Amino acid sequence: LEIQLQQARKMESLGNLAGGIAHDMNNVLGAILGIASANQEAQPSDSDTHRAFEIITRAAERGGKMVKSLLSFARQSPAEQREVNLNQIIREETELLERTTLSKIRLEMDLDPDLKPMLGDAGALTQVLMNLCVNAVDAMPDRGTLTLRTRNLGRDRIEVSVEDTGSGMPKEVLDKAMEPFFTTKEIGKGTGLGLSMVYSTVKAHHGEVALDSHLGLGTRVTLRFPACDSECRPGQAEGDSRAEAGR
Ligand code: ADP
Repeated sequence: LEIQLQQARKMESLGNLAGGIAHDMNNVLGAILGIASANQEAQPSDSDTHRAFEIITRAAERGGKMVKSLLSFARQSPAEQREVNLNQIIREETELLERTTLSKIRLEMDLDPDLKPMLGDAGALTQVLMNLCVNAVDAMPDRGTLTLRTRNLGRDRIEVSVEDTGSGMPKEVLDKAMEPFFTTKEIGKGTGLGLSMVYSTVKAHHGEVALDSHLGLGTRVTLRFPACDSECRPGQAEGDSRAEAGR
């Protein structure tokens, strides 16, 4: 528990740091983007200067996207508090996945039809599941199985897990996987913000994250959230933040 607490504090201070940097960086990028795109438009479209400004604009836009994901990591509270059905989020999201990346990957779903709803931000939770699925797919470059499960845990919690039969993580990677900017992927492919965004969003929903990984066998990420009983009321899940964060 001590280690889990330390980890939570570390993530919190990293979150604050990241938020500060992201905020300042946003202003810098805004200035670059504004000047570059105005100058780009002022140049003949087949000129070298036009192309140069176009490259600057694109780079600044890419930077802007990174800043956005940094800000979503730093933001500790969910934007919305509505009733969310995780099964529905999973179904919508996997439909998208199947259409894009899943050709060599078998998708299995084991969704509890009686899953209780939870209170939260559907958009942020979709992003969480998307990040986990993208990581799972990345870990299975040849073939494999991606399994998504949901179930009720006792009377007042729900669990969702994303499991792959991919590369798994060695201990050094597992220990750092949730830290912002930690990535083993090549430049341009990974930002290292996926799991840290997962961590902060889950935490903002008073939930917990557990990572289980075995080298060569695969990885399972399990998320647990407070559930609503029959009807979700904003603020209902507030008191339930005693949940431990950890593996
Ligand atoms: P990114 O995906 O951009 O690298 P993440 O924060 O999502 O950033 O993940 C950090 C690192 O954790 C990854 O680079 C990878 O080494 C490891 N990782 C995350 N998920 C998995 C997984 N399902 N299987 C194997 N390794 C993983």
